[in-house]
Amino acid sequence: MIFDILTIFPSMFSSPLREGMIGKARERDLIQVRVHNIRDFAFDKHHMTDDRPFGGGEGMVMKPEPIVGALRAIEAGGPEARCILLTPQGRLFSQEIARGLSKLSRIVLICGRYEGVDERVAQHFTDDQISIGDYVLTGGELAAMVIVDAVARLIPGVLGNVGSALEDSFTQPVLEHPQYTRPRDFEGMGVPPVLLCGNHETIRRWRRGQALKRTSLRRPDLFAALELSAEDRQLLEEIET
Ligand code: SAM
Repeated sequence: MIFDILTIFPSMFSSPLREGMIGKARERDLIQVRVHNIRDFAFDKHHMTDDRPFGGGEGMVMKPEPIVGALRAIEAGGPEARCILLTPQGRLFSQEIARGLSKLSRIVLICGRYEGVDERVAQHFTDDQISIGDYVLTGGELAAMVIVDAVARLIPGVLGNVGSALEDSFTQPVLEHPQYTRPRDFEGMGVPPVLLCGNHETIRRWRRGQALKRTSLRRPDLFAALELSAEDRQLLEEIET
């Protein structure tokens, strides 16, 4: 899968996307991340990528020509490429959206800055607009990294352990059960004895019960949408008593 990222701050991507699973996936050529400097496509005397807003007001707006020039140069908009504008006004990113994007072979991510991107880019040159949350960042670069990370780890082969993605929060869709590791005693705090019993079925049932309980407490919205099995109901009853 190819991620093409359009930004005026390409160096922001040099470290985060070289580390960990994403770095390894790039080394193994499971994913390619290509970062393009929008400024390279600003052909006026001062290489301007932004200008004052028509109608007046605060701040600057990203000009359309450099962004569209970059999109044309990388041939975005092919049948397999989804061109996404990062904006707090977009649809809210989720595990479900990440799953959908992970099935594509190419994604183009446009990172805005300042007051955002000229609306004509959004209207005529993108297929999708995504927000990573109801808050405003200074630029789309961190949002692009979030999307690359969440999508890439769903691509077959990227995670060493396929099972771990299946158990993640939101995949089921419940929050994941609590996790513990060594030492068994940390400053007087132990771990739930059930995790040391060695019985896989007992541990599976405990984890499922904890995941359900945690979801009901922390994310009642997700819990209300769950279709509980007979076992789920029994596990919840056992936890209550
Ligand atoms: N004036 C814009 C508005 O009110 O919608 C906000 C512009 S913001 C300061 C600058 C850029 O950061 C945006 O163009 C977008 O690319 C990015 N950005 C900010 N918040 C974001 C979010 N929650 N999700 C995705 N991108 C975001």
